[in-house]
Amino acid sequence: MGNKINRVVLVGTGAVGCSYAYSMINQGIAEELILIDVNASKAEGEAMDLNHGMPFAPAPTKVRSGTYQDCGQADLVVITAGLPQKPGETRLDLVDKNAKIFKSIVRDIMDSGFDGIFLIASNPVDILTYVTWKESGLPKERVIGSGTTLDTARLRYMVGDYLEVDTRNIHAAIIGEHGDTEFAVWSQASVGIETLAKVLDRRNNPEDKAKLDEIFVNVRDAAYHIIERKGATYYAIGMALTRITKAILSNENSILTVSSLLEGQYGHEDLYIGVPAVVNRGGIREVIEIDLNEEEKAKFDHSAKVLKELITKVYS
Ligand code: NAD
Repeated sequence: MGNKINRVVLVGTGAVGCSYAYSMINQGIAEELILIDVNASKAEGEAMDLNHGMPFAPAPTKVRSGTYQDCGQADLVVITAGLPQKPGETRLDLVDKNAKIFKSIVRDIMDSGFDGIFLIASNPVDILTYVTWKESGLPKERVIGSGTTLDTARLRYMVGDYLEVDTRNIHAAIIGEHGDTEFAVWSQASVGIETLAKVLDRRNNPEDKAKLDEIFVNVRDAAYHIIERKGATYYAIGMALTRITKAILSNENSILTVSSLLEGQYGHEDLYIGVPAVVNRGGIREVIEIDLNEEEKAKFDHSAKVLKELITKVYS
């Protein structure tokens, strides 16, 4: 922290990491982007390839491969390393394998003297963000998970597509675990500055309710649908991570559904879970506790319970 330039270290130059790096250089968000992977030669090759596109970028980004020592001078470390979901495997199946990998990566990063912000994307993201917080000893606001940022984007895209309204005017969120127990907060959704309920009243289309239910299922199961077809998901998460990075480095105070530590909000504590939060240069400024109806509260409680059980599994 306190550098004159924005320096980001990316750990994991697989499909997600490289999509993030590609999106970052295309938006010119950081002055320096350092790539680390257990496969050092892949990180090196990716840095070369990305640098060769620099004449076409909106601003220069110095991309190079590096080692964990480079984290000592980093403002932000983004982790996308780990094993991806295999067809038919849930994100939670990955927990044991990726928790072990994470403990060792976080140790190496902290040994460099790192004192910036962590942004975690590897799955199961809520658990691995909690592991990063525990293992790093950094304050909770400086450990952030991508949470349901991608799921929220999927929801906004699909609802906008259905209603034929610019997705950026759809204000709706998926919260909870980034996984099978997540849910849409329909009770608080709006289209532009009108509530979704009002828009649906006006449309008076008997198909809307079933269609929105179907949209939610497609959002929740999107990773499975994409993995079945192309083996992995990476472009949209790369853009979501870039969005969060920009909110941090540009001190935006943006509201994003990131994985944040709860300390009593929503009636839960000692777990990371996707909730709306204000994100700025200090990390998570605050968790926003939105009103949930009874059904949504029950879904949140269930999601939190599933995550708590996994945390207990990792730390028993
Ligand atoms: P990938 O296999 O393409 O890439 C993973 C990379 O991590 C590889 O390059 C591998 O060499 C590297 N790696 C493995 N162990 C390492 C270690 N100990 N140190 C450094 N690097 C290491 O996988 P991917 O498709 O890029 O997915 C990466 C992660 O992102 C997975 O956990 C996946 O589930 C997750 N993901 C998250 C979201 C989200 O919304 N949060 C979305 C998509 C994927």
